Parts: sequence; C-alpha cells; structure tokens
Amino acid sequence: MIEPPEAVVLAQQINQTLTGKQIKRATANQSPHKFAWYTGDPARYNELLAGKTIRAASYFASIVDIKADDMILGLSVLLRYHPAGDKLPKKHQLLLEFADNTALSATVQMWGGLFCFKETEKGGFKDTDMARQKPSPLSDAFDRAYFGGLFDENTGKLTAKAFLATEQRIPGLGNGVLQDILWTARIHPRRRMADLSRSEIGAMYRAVKSVLKKMSAQGGRDTERDLFGFPGGYTTVLSKNTVGKPCPECGALIQKEAYLGGSIYYCPGCQPI
Ligand SMILES: [Zn+2]
Repeated sequence: MIEPPEAVVLAQQINQTLTGKQIKRATANQSPHKFAWYTGDPARYNELLAGKTIRAASYFASIVDIKADDMILGLSVLLRYHPAGDKLPKKHQLLLEFADNTALSATVQMWGGLFCFKETEKGGFKDTDMARQKPSPLSDAFDRAYFGGLFDENTGKLTAKAFLATEQRIPGLGNGVLQDILWTARIHPRRRMADLSRSEIGAMYRAVKSVLKKMSAQGGRDTERDLFGFPGGYTTVLSKNTVGKPCPECGALIQKEAYLGGSIYYCPGCQPI
C-alpha cells in the first residue's frame, strides 16, 4: 500500500516522466475491484480525460494528485509507467494511454481510490476530503504544537497504533510506515497512550517526522515499488521482509501479530509492552 513516502516519490517521478504528455484514451474499471473507489461512473473517465495534457503531480497524504489541464486524478494505488512498446498489463483499474504510445497503469492492492474530478470541485470522498484539511506529517506545519493538538479526552484510551494510524488523525500515516515509527520511538504498538511518559510522546513525535522524512528521501520503502517497478531504497526494520530476523539494535527476533485490522511487527527487546 502506498503511504506518504511512496506518494512523494511517485509524484516526483510523474513530474519528471509524464509532464506534457497528452492523454489519448482513459480506461477505468476494466478489471472491477470490490475496493476500488471512483468518482461517479468510471465509464465516464474517458470523456473527462481524453485530450487533456498532464501538467504536474503533487502528493497529499497517501494520494498522488495528477493534474491534467482542468482535471485532477487523485490516485492512492500502485502506479506503473509503460514506455512505448512495453507490454501493457491485462488487469488494471485505470489505464491512461498517451499520444506518444507510452502509458500509465493503476492497480488497486488491498483497496484504493482512483478519483477524477474538476480542479474546482471536491475529491468526492469523505475521508480524503477530511484529510485534505489537515497538514501532511511531512510538512513544516505538522510541528510539535500541532502534534500536541491531536490529543483530546479520548486519546488516552487508544493504543499507540490506533492513535497514529486510524481516523486519518495523521493524513496518510498507515499500517506500513507505522511499524518503523514505533520501533524508532521504542514504543510497542499495543501500549495505551495514557501510559506513555512525556518523553515517550516526544519520541513518538520525533519518530513520525524523522522516519517519514528518511523514507521519502531514500525513495520509499523496500516493500513497495516505484513508478518504474523498482523497490524503494529505504530498508525497513520491521516488515514482512524482516519478521523472524534479529533486530539490528538488540538482536531479539522480530515478531508479527494480527492487531486492529492488519499486522503489527515489533521487537520484543526494544519495544516491551
Ligand atoms: Zn530490538
């Protein structure tokens, strides 16, 4: 699943690779997916997009916004560039074919949005519209004071995972990047927020900022693929790649458990409960 670091990298790569290309044809929903979300009828995407030119890409949370003249495509799915002559995938939830015979395919992994709307309209999806009102954890506006403002009378009952990665409290921060953030802060994902010390809360904030920054600077996580199909350069400490292996800090074996609608990974040495 793409999360903020991968969205940053994809937006950069799209700016370098797709800017100036004219959309010849857009095919949406060719392979129907239960958890693919479109704005209105995907059958209309071609009339909305054909003839438009890609102007720029930016990211928000875990969404890559591609501007094609007056339209915005907001994509939070796997994106792949296809040079001219490349074999196009049979299954996809969106395919943009360009006038120069290159293409961009979009594929939903677990779930994801493929929104298409006029620049002057809203994204058309409650959670993302809500998230768009909040500062990205990668931006300077997301500072210690802003982080402090995320606490209210109910957050004490939440666990560290629920606090960081649910309700879009922090735009785009999901179950993927969460693992290394909590490892860096030395906090077990199941610990209650009310039980964390002041210095642990400070460590949590610093880890959100530093880990996301490092992941973005290194081209995304090694568990995800970029626009050209290459894994990111950030080596995950806690992920499906490292479960059962020794922690680089203390040597304890990295554990995996199901928790709150997804897997958690942790080091029992560095993150005692
Ligand atoms: Zn450890």
